[in-house]
Amino acid sequence: MIDNLFQDNINNQDKEFERKLRPLSFDDFTGQAKVVDNLKVFVEAAKMRSEQLDHVLLHGPPGLGKTTLSNIIANELQVNLKITSGPVLDKPGDLAGILTGLQERDVLFIDEIHRLSPVVEEYLYSAMEDYRIDIMIDKGPNARSVQITLNPFTLIGATTRSGLLTSPLRARFGIKLLLEYYDNAIITEIIVRSASILKVSIELKAAQEISFRSRGTPRIANALLRRVRDFAQVKGNGKIDTEITLHALDALNIDRFGLDEMDNKILETIIDKFNGGPVGVGTIATAVGEDAGTIEEVYEPFLIKEGFIKRTPRGREVTRLAYEHLGKNILGQQGFLF
Ligand code: ADP
Repeated sequence: MIDNLFQDNINNQDKEFERKLRPLSFDDFTGQAKVVDNLKVFVEAAKMRSEQLDHVLLHGPPGLGKTTLSNIIANELQVNLKITSGPVLDKPGDLAGILTGLQERDVLFIDEIHRLSPVVEEYLYSAMEDYRIDIMIDKGPNARSVQITLNPFTLIGATTRSGLLTSPLRARFGIKLLLEYYDNAIITEIIVRSASILKVSIELKAAQEISFRSRGTPRIANALLRRVRDFAQVKGNGKIDTEITLHALDALNIDRFGLDEMDNKILETIIDKFNGGPVGVGTIATAVGEDAGTIEEVYEPFLIKEGFIKRTPRGREVTRLAYEHLGKNILGQQGFLF
């Protein structure tokens, strides 16, 4: 069983912890060099022109820094940031309230923007394009709509599933950026930085061990660091060395490659049910009970990056590493055993 560290639903205590570790400027933000370099230019240009930044779409799996980057963008632009999310905006009125409260050049962050209801999404179009919205006033026979001009603002939309975005919405974002899973070396740097903010001493080798199990994701790295720190305080001398780290990771039953339950289920299914592949992503999705798009956009990129799966013209195939990791024999199809 994998600890609930890997779930995207985080409680208030976790949120407080994340807030503390969240980088506040581009210089504090480690990794995603291409994304950050581009953003720096766009932010600088907007500042030079004293204009609002173009609307930004951030796409990538959970925990890679989309909310963090929005905070940084607002900080660097020296404007306010309002945060909301797709599922929370029930009706156009909810959105109207937020939009009319924005000051010039403010940033509005909408998390999970692919989950906006169609009416709210449509309402957003004119706000994004012309900074205008229609609102209904009065009721019954006197009801009429009036047009309101908004302060020019920047919308930052974050999504884990860009495939679910409608093309009219996507087209309204001038800047579209993809966040990718981090390399272990960068995750190690993030862990060392977090440890220094938490004022706990950590050996480089220990940070590396944690990075291997972090699924290329800063959120998981920080959550694991927090758990290992607990072990170091209670069972060790407070310092995070390699020994206590390995002990903690073992006690927490964390997969040694950082794979979560769904990753392992996908690999196991391809091996057990489809003889290692090749098999289409739609078939895998049905077999594991997950949406095909989520597998393609959230799970598969990590499994491919780490060399567990490869894409072939006939579908997905697991690699030798997947068999080794799950302790399974590769028999039959290729006729040899390892
Ligand atoms: P997302 O919005 O993509 O789900 P977040 O921006 O909430 O992810 O990031 C999750 C946590 O990971 C934050 O607490 C933040 O401290 C940390 N984090 C994310 N990206 C980085 C980074 N590049 N450098 C340092 N910490 C990061």
